[in-house]
Amino acid sequence: MRIPPWLRIELPRGKGFSCTGALLGDLRLNTVCRSARCPNIFECYSRKVATFLILGAQCTRGCAFCNIGLGRPEPVDPDEPARVSEAVGRLELRHAVITSVTRDDLPDGGSTHFAAVLRRIRADHPQVSTEVLIPDFQGDRQALETVLAAEPGILNHNVETAPGLYPRIRPQAVYARSLELLRTAKELAQEASTKSGLMVGLGETDEEVRGVIRDLHAAACDIVTVGQYMRPSRKHPEVERYVHPDTFEEYAAYGRSLGVPHMFCAPLVRSSYNAELFARKETGA
Ligand code: SF4
Ligand code: SF4
Repeated sequence: MRIPPWLRIELPRGKGFSCTGALLGDLRLNTVCRSARCPNIFECYSRKVATFLILGAQCTRGCAFCNIGLGRPEPVDPDEPARVSEAVGRLELRHAVITSVTRDDLPDGGSTHFAAVLRRIRADHPQVSTEVLIPDFQGDRQALETVLAAEPGILNHNVETAPGLYPRIRPQAVYARSLELLRTAKELAQEASTKSGLMVGLGETDEEVRGVIRDLHAAACDIVTVGQYMRPSRKHPEVERYVHPDTFEEYAAYGRSLGVPHMFCAPLVRSSYNAELFARKETGA
């Protein structure tokens, strides 16, 4: 299938891209931008924006759509919170977004490390707002509480796709468990905003997309993102359809009609795309 014109990206010029890459390399930090082969990396790195990928570069799951490596996880690095915080300062971020590989091998799922990163950023840069994009912690409420106790401004957990596609696309995840995590997060920390998102183009119908938006609204999600799936390599599932930008507008209008406070739907939207802008809209800051 040919890539439609609305997905053709004009590459920004300038030194920003390589400076950001070099800084992150110096600090031995992974980013989901690079590991997941995000199509927005040129734009974001050029603006000195990146989403930190903590807890190593190897995931204990192997979602079909994802470019992050499945393999033996690395030991947790106790210095990583300090290096992430240093990068936040050197990149002059005003909003730090932190995600991780899924660490089903760790008793706490990596939640203590997430909390350590959040606390270190707050201690060093109290003016910086934070957002975490967490795994499902296999439904472990204690792990979720550990992250929430470190007071992220936004707690994000993506459902990624429609429930009917989980066996093929996200076989180790459970749709109902992800919704439960979002519901519980809202109950436990009402001052934090919750966020979730999905990709389209993996074989779902528009009615299934609307169904996911309804479920996220029922789970009291404050921010919902919908973007186009793009195949990271020939090993990954093919794109089943390229959704027209007008249809993304319809998804957004549908979510707003239900009462979802913030819908961000466009072909190149990713859960961390323009996260600072979305966070400011959510908090009014
Ligand atoms: Fe990184 Fe998110 Fe930008 Fe993609 S959209 S390059 S993951 S910050
Ligand atoms: Fe990628 Fe997350 Fe799935 Fe791991 S759990 S393969 S990081 S989407």
